[in-house]
Amino acid sequence: MQSTASHQLEIYNSLSGKKESFTPISKEYVGMYVCGPTVYSKVHLGNLRTFTSFDVIYRYLCHIGYKVRYVRNITDVGHLENDQDQGEDRISKKARIENLEPMEVVQKYTYDFHGNTRKFNLLPPSIEPTATGHIIEQIKLIEKLLNNDLAYEVNGSVYFDVVKYNKSNDYGILSKRKIEDLIHNTRSLDGQSDKKNPQDFALWKKAEPKHIMKWESPWSNGFPGWHLECTAMSNKYLGEKFDIHGGGMDLKFPHHECEIAQSNACFGTNAANYWMHANMLTLNGQKMSKSTGNNILPEEIFSSGSPLLSKTFSGSSVKFFMLQAHYRSVLDLSNDALVASEKGFNKVIDAINILESFKNFSKETNFDIDKWSKTCYEAMNDDFNTPILIANIFEAVKFINKVTIGKAELSEKGSEELLRYINSFVFDIMGLEKSDQSIKRNNKLDKVMNIILELRNDARINKDYITSDKIRDLLKENGISINDNNKDSSYNFD
Ligand code: AMP
Ligand code: ZN
Repeated sequence: MQSTASHQLEIYNSLSGKKESFTPISKEYVGMYVCGPTVYSKVHLGNLRTFTSFDVIYRYLCHIGYKVRYVRNITDVGHLENDQDQGEDRISKKARIENLEPMEVVQKYTYDFHGNTRKFNLLPPSIEPTATGHIIEQIKLIEKLLNNDLAYEVNGSVYFDVVKYNKSNDYGILSKRKIEDLIHNTRSLDGQSDKKNPQDFALWKKAEPKHIMKWESPWSNGFPGWHLECTAMSNKYLGEKFDIHGGGMDLKFPHHECEIAQSNACFGTNAANYWMHANMLTLNGQKMSKSTGNNILPEEIFSSGSPLLSKTFSGSSVKFFMLQAHYRSVLDLSNDALVASEKGFNKVIDAINILESFKNFSKETNFDIDKWSKTCYEAMNDDFNTPILIANIFEAVKFINKVTIGKAELSEKGSEELLRYINSFVFDIMGLEKSDQSIKRNNKLDKVMNIILELRNDARINKDYITSDKIRDLLKENGISINDNNKDSSYNFD
């Protein structure tokens, strides 16, 4: 493990409801499964917040030296309109509406998802399995559950017997719900008459004749239930017990509770040691969601296509906005918040640019880089606390800006060290990028500033101090300080 990461990594485990020291099952390896998108429509910024949270977690685990197998699935069948097993399959419905083959729908929105993960600079997972590619594995699990007498077949459909399971296990261990409350709160919906208990969930559903996505099975021509795919794929690629299982907070119940039940019923384990949940991105105080339409799509931020936004934003500025909140906190998106975050992000990039081209070294560095980097690692080791990490990075930005106006000292060695750490935290761990725009902006601004400095210099040579002071004061009012300490004047952002 990386020596600088002297503190033990702690992860908030939704199963225990507290932070726990992270100890992987195999010393140097981590197995992590994250529930991927249901590819029946475009991903929105809420989805991307969850995938960004797990991208940073994946990046950090790799950074501190673990070899991580990161599995993130694509749900391309089985997710019904109502999470409680009712309604039409989301992909089949979209295929019917758009007059497409279901696999065309899947392909179209998988492309959309991948395009946006690239624009958001999210690393690809090690394995990206699809539910339809694992029907055989899902059928095998159902057979196992039937053999273990924790599932039953009715009219070609198979259900998980939650009440029976709960007699020797704890259904509700993750979501902390009580089965008695669930019995009272589960409405009797169409088609539930097949179930012994309303809270039982489908493992296999017999397809109606008009249903287009169906496979042969020992019970009927049908399709698997949504919760089963993740148990089948996590088990296949990570084993009966692995380290981390993640997803958005809204998946805790029923999806992850059902996964835990399936895994216990098949293998006698809770599937993962650490269950992690990323909190929701909201818009106008309401959860961003595909089905309600209360969302902003990534293409809308890149092209200013949303009436809620005053301008375009790069993927990295939006990510910076997201990472300024802890992954377990709810975050509300607004134009003002994005504008403020972009400003902050530009300050960080400007400081990195200054550091990269800085030459005016001193003998000493009067900033404790070692202590500062430890504080950054402590933040990340404290359940991936990116807001604290970013606050620390701003401390370094302040120092860099002081150096440029001659109010602090930086040695060549210190400059290399500081740049190495900042690059690690900003680019490798948080996965932020200098956008083309920011590079262009920086180059152009630099050119414009050099012209202004030259004009001001001419004014000074001509003893036109009224003009030269006016230029300096106007720039200062706009957050740009001119430094006349050197032979050639330079500038920096306040
Ligand atoms: P879905 O495509 O609906 O299966 O969701 C894909 C992932 O995005 C899941 O982990 C969800 O929990 C997550 N997700 C959905 N809506 C939001 C939201 N508003 N904020 C954050 N994550 C979300
Ligand atoms: Zn899942």
